[in-house]
Amino acid sequence: MPVNRIVTSVLNKTKRRDPWFLDDYTINPYMGCSFNCLYCYIRGSKYGIHMEQKLVVKENAVDVLEKQLTNKAKKNQFGIVVLASATEPYLQLEGELKITRQFLELLAHYRFPVHVITKSDLVLRDLDLLKKIDANAILPKDLEHHLTNRAFITFSFSTLDEKISRIFEPGATSPGRRLETLKAVIDQGIHAGVSLMPLLPHLTDSQEAIDGYYRTFHQMRVHYLFPASLTLFGSGASDSMSLVFGAIEKHFPELLTSYRKLYASGFRVDKNYQEELSKRFELARVRFPVPQSILHN
Ligand code: SF4
Repeated sequence: MPVNRIVTSVLNKTKRRDPWFLDDYTINPYMGCSFNCLYCYIRGSKYGIHMEQKLVVKENAVDVLEKQLTNKAKKNQFGIVVLASATEPYLQLEGELKITRQFLELLAHYRFPVHVITKSDLVLRDLDLLKKIDANAILPKDLEHHLTNRAFITFSFSTLDEKISRIFEPGATSPGRRLETLKAVIDQGIHAGVSLMPLLPHLTDSQEAIDGYYRTFHQMRVHYLFPASLTLFGSGASDSMSLVFGAIEKHFPELLTSYRKLYASGFRVDKNYQEELSKRFELARVRFPVPQSILHN
């Protein structure tokens, strides 16, 4: 069961804008995430093994966000708001609580551009607001000539294989349904793309698999695709490295030694593997071109 908490701030100003996600601000409607991806980078000891048990609803988040957006809009400090950076904005709970929907209503009212990052089909519920934002939001000055849109939806995939997805991202909308949702969003004229991350070494990262992802997304005419490898953190029972190694040991024991070697020096995957993976992305991109940026120049 989630617990409620009073918060003093919802809108976070980032130190610098990520070149892929373009986050000037981030907002998170919940703390923790009931999608429970084993590889999730927020999985540190703070969140526990079963994050849904620690799921926190920010009770006064809508009021706090309204105050913060009023203030930023008055000062003309418009920027792209990433929803969300440390949780899923369309958790199962969101269907009932509609906190993300109320956030989007505020962003539309105060004319802030938004970048939604999701693994859920529930985003379809809010396309009316996202279209409104796309039509009326005010871009930060330095991006005015590099963007034609003001609302973006990025769908995350680490695999298109349903069985692998159920092991590593048990609470998320299935990859097949995510693909259907992505197609529906593009058909509705929303600027949408794919975060192809994290690819799982030796499971979802072969040249054949990567060609398959690029072919699929190229045919769907996604507007952009960001590919990346897996990072794994921590050695505590609740940390992503322990959880992923545990799942590998249980379901793919023949890969455990390789995984240990790949992450022997820390949270980043082995350098040689990373170089090889980058080559695979390049090859696939030549065969099935998809832009690697939301910015158009
Ligand atoms: S959906 Fe995103 S935030 Fe939630 S557990 Fe998965 S990776 Fe983490």
